[in-house]
Amino acid sequence: MRKIKLSRRGVLGGLTGLAVVSAVPLVATNAFADSATKKHKRDVPKPDIFSCDDWGARPANGTPVKVNNGTNKIIVHHTAFPNTTDHSKDYAFQNSRDIQDLHMDQNGWMDTGQHFTNSQGGFITEGRHGSLDALLDGGYQIEGAHCVGQNDQAIGIENDGTFLDSDQPSQEQWNSLINFCAFICQQYKLASSEIYGHMDFNSTQCPGNIHDRLPELRDAVQKVLDGSRHHHG
Ligand SMILES: [Zn+2]
Repeated sequence: MRKIKLSRRGVLGGLTGLAVVSAVPLVATNAFADSATKKHKRDVPKPDIFSCDDWGARPANGTPVKVNNGTNKIIVHHTAFPNTTDHSKDYAFQNSRDIQDLHMDQNGWMDTGQHFTNSQGGFITEGRHGSLDALLDGGYQIEGAHCVGQNDQAIGIENDGTFLDSDQPSQEQWNSLINFCAFICQQYKLASSEIYGHMDFNSTQCPGNIHDRLPELRDAVQKVLDGSRHHHG
């Protein structure tokens, strides 16, 4: 939506003398778009997302930056931490603290790099401060540090574990990833095709075997989006 508005403004700016004439069809286009949105309103349920306060994050070293460049994709990662059989919420919270410590103390970043973390138990936690409020708003995002070149336009999800060799995400983690991606697509008005893996942009093995399963993930997310469509009239 933002991009369309910006380009419309550009068109109007370039055709100053015709602004009054061209404004008429533009208004009509807006009205049509609004009614189409209402007709196919999506209502993907918000999954439980535990905030930085919930898991006991340290304060960020500075103020996370809000960016409004047009969030256009989701990028999935694996943490490359050891795989665990502990699927508890306590583990997810401890893991979120460990990641934040690593990113701040070892990497020297202001805060956790990714926007969200998905534990092997399927618990979703907020990463960088402000990412949850941004997601609920849908009109902006927090600048992350998870994928070079994409941090101001992609939502980064770290899936806890190392998915190399024959290791795969747990079923809880996979199901959680599907529902969470669907919710993100709804909030930022993304197509399910706009879900990528870290290795699509940077030289890395991340997200391991999840990358081979991106087509399956996109299809599953699309099914959630389709199932949430309400038809009025
Ligand atoms: Zn990655």
